[in-house]
Amino acid sequence: MRGASRAVRREGKRLALVPTMGALHEGHLSLVRAARAACDVVAASIFVNPTQFGPNEDLAKYPRSFERDCEMLEREGVEFVFAPSVEEMYPAGAVTWVTVEELSGKLDGGSRPGHFRGVTTVVAKLFHIVEPDKAFFGQKDAAQVAIIRRMVRDLNLAVEIVVCPIVREADGLAMSSRNAYLGPEERKRALVLHRALVRVQRMVEAGERDVGPLSAAGIYEFARESSVRLDYFEIVNPDTLDPVEDVSRGALVAVAAYVGATRLIDNILLGPAKSDNHEGH
Ligand code: AMP
Repeated sequence: MRGASRAVRREGKRLALVPTMGALHEGHLSLVRAARAACDVVAASIFVNPTQFGPNEDLAKYPRSFERDCEMLEREGVEFVFAPSVEEMYPAGAVTWVTVEELSGKLDGGSRPGHFRGVTTVVAKLFHIVEPDKAFFGQKDAAQVAIIRRMVRDLNLAVEIVVCPIVREADGLAMSSRNAYLGPEERKRALVLHRALVRVQRMVEAGERDVGPLSAAGIYEFARESSVRLDYFEIVNPDTLDPVEDVSRGALVAVAAYVGATRLIDNILLGPAKSDNHEGH
């Protein structure tokens, strides 16, 4: 992979990397298309990274569809698929980690201890192997975006991070490889995540700025869908992931919930309030 990457760059071409865990859907393909538009050559990685799964999580049953994924990537004109084995990525005795302190304990990091340490370690390794000019990530994993951006800044990594919007099903459910776990009834109940976020967004559009009533309204949607277990519903600064008190300067509204045994996440990014923008006054 590194040989291929260096050959591309020797020709003066710009290389994009799209890191994935496979089981590809339109969300992943949106990243591939953005990469295609921004760079000359596109590499996608497919690696179900064991170090970002907790001991009681779904590593063993995580959906895998390598042949189909390769066909989809080929149709998008992706030049390179990097799909290393676990042994290749983690040689026996590997004990070195990349940890973004503090941020890694927030949002999903609170309920999935060690998750973001696994993410940042594998992403740093992918960056070193592939040496891309730009790497493409989805806003779907908002905490991951904040943590990877911080890692790149803190470690002076020579890669530009590009973040692409969340791709949703027609009814609003954020696309995810884990949606494949949902039975028909669960699939309907899963809509509560998006419904709660839209409710908050409407209140903000109607002028509400205080996090108190906004959170309460979002959490209330979950109370009405009692079969779905809320993990967190938080309104935070999108860079620091710290709670905010009001959303005038923009905020990330992030949610995680268990629909049956399946843990789903979703979020919306609120922009700075227009009425609070005093530029030109
Ligand atoms: P994953 O294979 O789940 O690790 O995801 C690989 C990349 O695709 C990550 O950067 C995700 O944020 C992104 N991604 C996953 N689902 C979506 C979606 N529905 N919309 C946009 N990006 C997504």
